[in-house]
Amino acid sequence: MNAEILAVGTELLMGQIANTNAQYISRRLADIGVNVYYHSVVGDNKKRLKQCLDIALNRSDAILMTGGLGPTQDDLTKETVAEVLNIKLAMNEEVLDEMKSFFTKLNRKMTDNNIKQAYLPEGCIIVKNRNGTAPGCIIEKHGKTVVMLPGPPSEMKPMFEETVVPYFEDKTSYRLVSKYIRIFGIGESAVEEKIIDLIERQTNPTIAPYAKEGEVMLRITARYDKEQRQYGHDLLSPVVEEIKRR
Ligand code: ATP
Ligand code: MG
Repeated sequence: MNAEILAVGTELLMGQIANTNAQYISRRLADIGVNVYYHSVVGDNKKRLKQCLDIALNRSDAILMTGGLGPTQDDLTKETVAEVLNIKLAMNEEVLDEMKSFFTKLNRKMTDNNIKQAYLPEGCIIVKNRNGTAPGCIIEKHGKTVVMLPGPPSEMKPMFEETVVPYFEDKTSYRLVSKYIRIFGIGESAVEEKIIDLIERQTNPTIAPYAKEGEVMLRITARYDKEQRQYGHDLLSPVVEEIKRR
């Protein structure tokens, strides 16, 4: 399954915040065997968001979106996705009740603009939010999956772990396991020269060198069927041992 991450927020484009959501989601999707091929960022602008969605729907099986699910005027992710996929938004009473009790617990008055957050695409899977008011959702249409999660990482991460990870785990059949070898005192090109034959014939596991500050890191990654975890580790060991020997 091929996925991409589409972060929505003008703050990201202005450099006020870093796109840590994309980093987090990418890392976790790699663990569960979902290939992430693109990251994009778009501002809070309906026209440009539509263009991004069109591109993403053309090239990916799954689109994971973060941001723009809040109560204010500039939060337009759900409305825009619903328009592009031609799905109606419908008021969800259960979500509305949960939002009301969230405000009661905080001893705050719920303003009218919050009601907009209880409107969800018809037929979606709801992704509950225990740490905020905006629920997320998963939509399946025309063989594509669109996931929408709120921007704040403290809300996004638990929602992603509790609902989105199990959803994709069910749909994928393999997993990745990696080992990292850190090498000090020689440069990237010298490292590559020593193991070039291993790199050239790599299939499973794969070997990727990274030049870091003050060290070279090798990532060795094996792919295994999710039912055969031990097999993944067994694939890694001989390659790791051979690199260490050299
Ligand atoms: P809210 O209900 O808080 O408005 P939202 O889903 O509408 O949530 P945004 O308004 O886009 O999300 O962003 C709210 C905050 O979440 C940002 O100010 C920022 O702190 C954080 N945030 C948003 N997107 C990202 C991202 N891609 N990576 C890291 N943090 C993010
Ligand atoms: Mg917002």
